[in-house]
Amino acid sequence: MSPRKRPDATGDAPILRLVGADPFDLDSLLAEFMGAANAKALDRDFGIRRVDDLLHHYPRRYATRGQLTAIAETPIGEHVTLVAEVRSVQERKMRQRSGSITEVTIFDGRATATLTFFNQPWRVRDLRPGDRGTFSGKATLYRGGIQLAHPDFELFEEEDQQVGIAGETDVERWASELLPIYPASAAMPSWRIAQLIAEALTALGPLPDPVPEFVRAEAASMGYDAALRAMHAPATMSQVSTARRALRLTEAFVLQTALLQQRRAARAVASSPRTTGQGSLLARFDAALSFELTGDQRAVGDEIARELGDTAPMQRLVQGEVGSGKTVVAVRAMLQVADAAGQSALLAPTEVLATQHVRSIAAQLGPELMGEVQPTLLTGGMPQSERRRALLRIASGDARIVVGTHALLGDAVSFFDLGLVVVDEQHRFGVEQRERLRAKSDAPPHLLVLTATPIPRTVAMTVFGDLDVSTIAELPGGRAGITTHVVPAGERPGWLDRAWARTGEELGRGRQAFIVCPAIEVGDDGTEPLGDEDEGDAAGASALPVSVEAVAALARERPELAGRTVAELHGRMPSDEKDAIMRRFAEGGIDVLVATTVIEVGVNVPNASVMMVMGAERFGVSQLHQLRGRVGRGEHAGLCLLVTEAEAESTGRERVEAVASTLDGFELAQRDLELRREGDVLGSAQSGATSSLRLLRVARDGDLIDLARSAAGEVLEADPALESVEHEPLLAALARIRDEQRAFLEKS
Ligand code: ADP
Ligand code: MG
Repeated sequence: MSPRKRPDATGDAPILRLVGADPFDLDSLLAEFMGAANAKALDRDFGIRRVDDLLHHYPRRYATRGQLTAIAETPIGEHVTLVAEVRSVQERKMRQRSGSITEVTIFDGRATATLTFFNQPWRVRDLRPGDRGTFSGKATLYRGGIQLAHPDFELFEEEDQQVGIAGETDVERWASELLPIYPASAAMPSWRIAQLIAEALTALGPLPDPVPEFVRAEAASMGYDAALRAMHAPATMSQVSTARRALRLTEAFVLQTALLQQRRAARAVASSPRTTGQGSLLARFDAALSFELTGDQRAVGDEIARELGDTAPMQRLVQGEVGSGKTVVAVRAMLQVADAAGQSALLAPTEVLATQHVRSIAAQLGPELMGEVQPTLLTGGMPQSERRRALLRIASGDARIVVGTHALLGDAVSFFDLGLVVVDEQHRFGVEQRERLRAKSDAPPHLLVLTATPIPRTVAMTVFGDLDVSTIAELPGGRAGITTHVVPAGERPGWLDRAWARTGEELGRGRQAFIVCPAIEVGDDGTEPLGDEDEGDAAGASALPVSVEAVAALARERPELAGRTVAELHGRMPSDEKDAIMRRFAEGGIDVLVATTVIEVGVNVPNASVMMVMGAERFGVSQLHQLRGRVGRGEHAGLCLLVTEAEAESTGRERVEAVASTLDGFELAQRDLELRREGDVLGSAQSGATSSLRLLRVARDGDLIDLARSAAGEVLEADPALESVEHEPLLAALARIRDEQRAFLEKS
């Protein structure tokens, strides 16, 4: 008789080899305890190397034997696990070639599927009508029915097989037992993963909890060991949800502890305090300022001034809507540092933006302060001679304010006394790059990060957990505001004509227009669509032109725009050309600028009053909101026309509608969070700290994150180095996060 196996496989030959004196713990490498083929499959298909990784490979869902997996709903082309009963087994000789095919029909109570084995006649003995079990393999369509070729299968044990004729309660118990279904692959089917995890959990014994007891109690949370075991072998579904919450708390707590530790470490190394005084550059700047600072600008400015004067390095993120006046806040901070003989580096994401920054800083300083501060630009595209002069001024300390792109990170750049690093639009910079700039100073410089993307609090806490956050919510007065309309080009082509007409009218009043496109050339994929995969279509497939190339050509033909100067701007152009075009647009020499998102951040042309966004559904909510901030910046009311072919009620369309529905960046950020998938929210731009999150969802788990944050603070306050025995499991978990971060950074 063939061996009978169960999906939870306690009766199976063990996969883990736990003999010998090797310690087997969470950090053990699986490859040392199992066959090479299995270890390789786990690593290749799931990145699982250590026991800890394996235990965090959570079931995707749970199946019960009773509620048989529906064959009728099996997705074709996917790796599936079916729970079914064998109906018939047939062996036949192949007609064309020598050999045999074994065909097994299985039935799940509603539909049948065929299992096919080539040249494995012994299968007839393994599988007999009436046998029940799990069958996993890739589902294909064969003669109109579902087929699994060479599936892996596990038959339920003898006692389970008998259940059909046993008493009612037994049937219920058997039928309702939860079988974990894991993300699986051909080489590593779900049942084998289940077996491995079960063996590992048995061998490990009780797992120590990285979360201290008082925190568990405060959160009314199940302990770590119970939660992990419940995830992999739950008695009920409600146990699963209790366990999930406990593991989310674990993730949140360990991550918050890591972030707060990082923050404490950064503050532990003294930086040079930079204070200003009377008659200083800053005082003279303030006196000459042509406008009143808003209340928020003043409050945030005071906070920054205080921190710059302290020995603990400032680590502050300032978020404020486009146009909220963050630049002045940054300039004032840089002047305070200049007053203390220090230099500041402002890091911008693009050359266009760096150039614009240095120009507007110069304008704000006025000729006199300019000579004393010598704002200096450094970008990769600069001519050699100019670059050498800039490097010299930076090294001598004459340039008190240095503005640049990634070029600032280069080895050739050395500062005389770098006191402050300002990063504009943090989301374009990784933490690593930030660190490289900071390393250019003996004492760690103060850090000021500016972002126009409003960040919901729990996201800020998770992603920028090592920074303090302040907000400029107030917009300077005197702005005329923006009106936003959705133009559904597919449903209402007439509206698209109207959009061109409105653009033409604005130009007729002496205004200028932006037309933003998601792609550069026809047929380009351009920006990645942010929505569901099935919405992504190449630029060429769409009736609406969405590339800079095609839209510029169209703009030159539209009668509404006759006689207007149309220019193109995108990231593939040489930087001097981009610069020249931006300057001409700012000076009014160009009427219509057809551009990619290179104009997204910072570009300031107060005379631009209208923006058309082509294929608006291809942009994210925050991105659209930022784009729209380019118009209505001056005395002229702004008009933003979001042209989309996305169908009503698609995710893409919802994003576009959301942007049109409000001007409140924080509300949009929250909506954005809800409309995006988690991976997009946290983004790859982040430090990798978040790569340790498996179950935690920042949009939903705000309360757990809050609780974890304050608990982590308490724990570190009481035991900064986590030396007490009680914190050993936490230390081990933190070490694992750091490993994971390192691996993440190496990959990206
Ligand atoms: P952002 O926050 O988007 O970087 P900027 O700093 O570029 O905003 O400011 C946008 C415009 O608003 C600039 O022209 C700037 O001079 C002006 N501005 C900044 N603060 C004020 C203020 N308090 N009152 C009036 N105008 C201001
Ligand atoms: Mg700005």
